[in-house]
Amino acid sequence: MGSRLLKRAGISPKTCEQLKRHNIESCKDLLKHTAFEVMHAAGLSYQKTLEMMETVSKVIAPPLTTALELWKHYSDSRFLTSLPALDKVLRGGIPCGAITEVTGPFGCGKTQLCMMLSVVTTLPKELGGLDRSVIYIDTESAFSAERLVEIAQNRFPDYFSSREKVVQMAGRVHIFREMTCQDVFRRLEKLEEILIATKAGLIILDSVASVVRKEFDTTLPGNLLLRSNVLGEEATTLKYLAHQFNIPVVVTNQITTQIGGQGSGPDTEGDSGIVTAALGNTWAHSVNTRFILQYGDGHQRQLLVAKSPVAPFAVLNYTIQKEGFCMNGNDGEVTLYEGTDPSLQAIRVRTLINLDTP
Ligand code: ATP
Ligand code: MG
Repeated sequence: MGSRLLKRAGISPKTCEQLKRHNIESCKDLLKHTAFEVMHAAGLSYQKTLEMMETVSKVIAPPLTTALELWKHYSDSRFLTSLPALDKVLRGGIPCGAITEVTGPFGCGKTQLCMMLSVVTTLPKELGGLDRSVIYIDTESAFSAERLVEIAQNRFPDYFSSREKVVQMAGRVHIFREMTCQDVFRRLEKLEEILIATKAGLIILDSVASVVRKEFDTTLPGNLLLRSNVLGEEATTLKYLAHQFNIPVVVTNQITTQIGGQGSGPDTEGDSGIVTAALGNTWAHSVNTRFILQYGDGHQRQLLVAKSPVAPFAVLNYTIQKEGFCMNGNDGEVTLYEGTDPSLQAIRVRTLINLDTP
């Protein structure tokens, strides 16, 4: 809430301009200062300054709501993925106003899922889409426009039979390539205006892990805490945006080999053996819903619903086809996960399997 820009909090453009010169742009920036400091920066009277600070405090205070209100608008707060089995498990789709994380070993399909969700977001409502654009923050240069178009044309062949529709769809997926933690953070901070300008209905961050893991060697003293702080700030901003615009935020994460138990110790990219989601416990608590992708037998892969405030632990089998993510059968086969929290279990990474054998 505090990330909201002052110009979106009912403060006059002239005062916003004046405060910007003192690096006060958001509600949080303003409320970090004393009334005297703000008075000098804004060039207002003390009384006017107090009134402005009160207005800003009221704007960012979480609104009081009831369960009845939330229940009435439940269907507006879910995003249908075009995977009926997954939507059913999730009680209507991926939650809006919250962070959904997709974690799993390399090559398992995290980026494929993100690209497919991007296509679905741009679809008209009568076809199950949101008719909105997408903000896609790509930190791995993994996004492929060719693949996006291939998924669109193969998944929704009737709708994307005309070149015009394909061009329209591709023009609504806004890609930001950000390769450092600082760049990602700056982008997130400036995203509010872009979301308004583009009428975005989905934010994707693919991936949250790659830049922080590159920049913070957690074997060095102090770095684990620093990394935790950076991730905490990112999660707060993403949650604010998700909540403010009532849209889903999807982030991808990597896997890690845990040394010395859950969530502790340095992490290294795992390629076999016991691995779990990367970035530790603090980050895990920041995400509202967590999917784990893992390899199965042959071409089969599995999506585990490992954390959700509304759904039980579940396992769905999928493959990746020309049309992107596909669940087995029409509605997919869902197995309820037996045992303890799947996010605490080892994730199956690719071993030396022969993908040509059935
Ligand atoms: P990383 O952790 O490296 O980012 P990822 O989980 O994001 O990996 P993706 O890039 O989403 O992995 O998936 C790559 C996999 O998608 C390929 O290994 C391949 O199996 C599958 N794939 C990609 N393109 C196609 C296609 N056109 N048809 C079928 N499968 C495809
Ligand atoms: Mg990827």
